[in-house]
Amino acid sequence: MPDGTAREALIDVGAIAANTRRFARVTETEVLAVVKADAYGHGAVRAARAAIDGGATRLGTADINEALELRRAGIMAPILSWLHAPGASFAEAAAAHVALGISSMDQLQAAAAAATADRPTRIHLKLETGLSRNGIAPEDWNHVVAEAARWERLGKVAIEGIFSHVSNTSIADDQQALDRFNEGVAIAASLGVHPEIRHLAATSAALALPAARLDAVRIGVGLYGLSPFDDRTSAELGLRPAMTLRAAVANVRRVPAGTGLSYGYTHRTTRETTLALVPLGYADGIPRSSSNRGTVAIAGKTFTVSGRVAMDQFIVDVGDHPVSTGDEVIVFGDPTLGVPSAEDWAEASDTINYEIVTRIGPRVTRRSVSS
Ligand SMILES: *Cc1c(COP(=O)(O)O)cnc(C)c1O
Repeated sequence: MPDGTAREALIDVGAIAANTRRFARVTETEVLAVVKADAYGHGAVRAARAAIDGGATRLGTADINEALELRRAGIMAPILSWLHAPGASFAEAAAAHVALGISSMDQLQAAAAAATADRPTRIHLKLETGLSRNGIAPEDWNHVVAEAARWERLGKVAIEGIFSHVSNTSIADDQQALDRFNEGVAIAASLGVHPEIRHLAATSAALALPAARLDAVRIGVGLYGLSPFDDRTSAELGLRPAMTLRAAVANVRRVPAGTGLSYGYTHRTTRETTLALVPLGYADGIPRSSSNRGTVAIAGKTFTVSGRVAMDQFIVDVGDHPVSTGDEVIVFGDPTLGVPSAEDWAEASDTINYEIVTRIGPRVTRRSVSS
């Protein structure tokens, strides 16, 4: 670790580019790289650039503010934002050429109002197909699409896409959503709306339901090299995890048998042993629920967290293994390299890999590397 660095997340931008290429090849369709939530904790700007390097043709964010951050960094690729706070600035989005996901008549009217004389607002109409989140209800679809078509003829909006999002409940449920989606696209066509792209699948459906690939797939977790499936690893999907979380041992202490560790003494040593202190805690995204369960690699050997994870630190009982202050602790990374994975931490804390990487806190320095 660089001198003075307590903790850092290495972000392998080469892996993000390679994962993007993999999705483009496997799905044979356009890849819209989802970089919301600071690219699942990997850093939105670097991840967007890496995905574009890997062939992504579009970017996606939840909020408009996330899209504007990419524009401020000079990223010119098409961007779609789909989750709008009431009163979010559509004018600012339109001026920055950020396309807007439209989930209601109100949002459609606001998008039309954000147009200028020479610039229609780019929109993607979102149809609700069964996830019960946002999206235009099927019973309102004809009416909203007809209105969108009218605004398009007036030059106020450009209907670039129609999209939806599926629940990943089962292939049958996702197929049903796809059927509803295709009906919605047919209705739109009958109203004179022929968008450039239809898109439905995120990582899971893009891999599991080929019919859902349509004109573009919106890939998030897969770009970061993580599997959306319980029963298939990253390696089995041909993906490389992009984030390695590591820290430098902050302190080493030799203690006798019967020593209580960390708050609440949920672990006591059973023999004389060495304790290594790792400067990462729940403020950095290490789940407190992984206390006594999470694993780390130190000098090529795997150890379990001993005692409670605190806000800033946790303890690892390393036995008689020679460990010194400053030694590297790998919390998770690419498991094919013999280190724990984000999935291992998810399992140790009853959550999913998405949550593990997304919650890594701001105190952890992100640094780009490429392999
Ligand atoms: C987050 C999100 C995605 C990406 O999902 P992954 O499972 O990470 O691929 C795609 N589409 C929408 C609408 C999303 O909110």
